[in-house]
Amino acid sequence: MAATLFTNVTVWTHEKAAFPGEVLVEGNRIAKVATGAQQISRSGAAVVDGAGATLMPGLIDGHAHIPFPGLRNFYDWGAIPAEEHTLIAMHNARTLLDAGFVGAISAGSVKARLDVVIRNEIEAGRIPGPRILAATPELTVTGGLGDDRRLHFDVQTISMVVDGVENYRQVARTFCREGVDIIKMAVSGHQTMPHAPAQATVMTEAEIAAVVETTSAFGKRTAAHARANESVQMCLRQGVDFLYHCEYADERTLDAIEAARERVFLGPAVAPFHAQLFENAIPGMDRTARERLEVQFEQVCATYQSLRRRGVRVLIGGEYGLPGIPHGTNARDLAHFVRYFGYEPAEALATATRYAAEAMQMGDRLGQVKEGYLADLIMVHGRPYEDVAVLQNIDNLQAIMKDGAFHKRPAGAAWLSAAA
Ligand SMILES: [Zn+2]
Repeated sequence: MAATLFTNVTVWTHEKAAFPGEVLVEGNRIAKVATGAQQISRSGAAVVDGAGATLMPGLIDGHAHIPFPGLRNFYDWGAIPAEEHTLIAMHNARTLLDAGFVGAISAGSVKARLDVVIRNEIEAGRIPGPRILAATPELTVTGGLGDDRRLHFDVQTISMVVDGVENYRQVARTFCREGVDIIKMAVSGHQTMPHAPAQATVMTEAEIAAVVETTSAFGKRTAAHARANESVQMCLRQGVDFLYHCEYADERTLDAIEAARERVFLGPAVAPFHAQLFENAIPGMDRTARERLEVQFEQVCATYQSLRRRGVRVLIGGEYGLPGIPHGTNARDLAHFVRYFGYEPAEALATATRYAAEAMQMGDRLGQVKEGYLADLIMVHGRPYEDVAVLQNIDNLQAIMKDGAFHKRPAGAAWLSAAA
């Protein structure tokens, strides 16, 4: 069995202070973790001298859209043929792994089977990329998020328009048949939709209930774009698994989220707010739009500061692949969590490793450096558990290992010897 021994590394894994040690990988699993002066036998292993680098679990994005093509105009997204779009998604998947992301929980696939086909090709070992939970496109009601049609003009951009309980059942069943892991619903409106603002709840509770019931019958899970207070409450009542955004949740709703914290995962998807407000991602944004966005961003910060205090599992990631926030820059979210939501650096790392692995229902084998766990590891120059920003520079990622195999090999000098 192929074995790799990481020596002279500082191991970081959640629930422990970082410690000097050694880690042996055999096959696709972590076989042994040694602390301090303990040594693991070199016999038969390729040895990597980390020279004090940090060895930690690979990162997981909790709200990924691997097919997002980075174009400014949504109509141009709709115009990309499925074949070209598949290749775009393939390249983006590789970019994520290049950036140290070994997992991605999709929050929307743009076109019907883009996530599914990329996930399957990665699992078959034919293309590089993270472990993926594949989602549907946003399922949205007429006039909701991503219904970019006009009466004279039919187009599909990021969403699939579905209205009514029976149609939701049928579409959910179809996607379960097609192999998705997550059915994504656009329950709330969105700040960019002229007639369905973020604080509007445009899906009905009966539609949500139909999706959850149908989907769970297939053993799959559900996710919601839920900004409005009422949307979040409806999703909690109906048992939706992933609640995204939620910035208008009031105190009572925050209590309800806290009460469900063993079951649900949340994600703020904060990056677009940051890019649009502070990085000029929408050149020429008018003043009213900007002021509205500032208020909404303050809501996001207040909500996630509160959820952190309440011990709710919140995931990093969200909307990378939009203009201004390209794929592969996802680790920036960690710094946003620290700066805006009050997370300690190690706490932010936990959201991207241990808790995201739990969200993938792989918490017993992914997201920690522990014996028996999958060898999805990154070796990082610097101390991300003290300064998460070091993860933003992919040159600091000295090695990336997924499923026991190097995606990025350590540079020559780090190899002391090779296995025979
Ligand atoms: Zn999203």
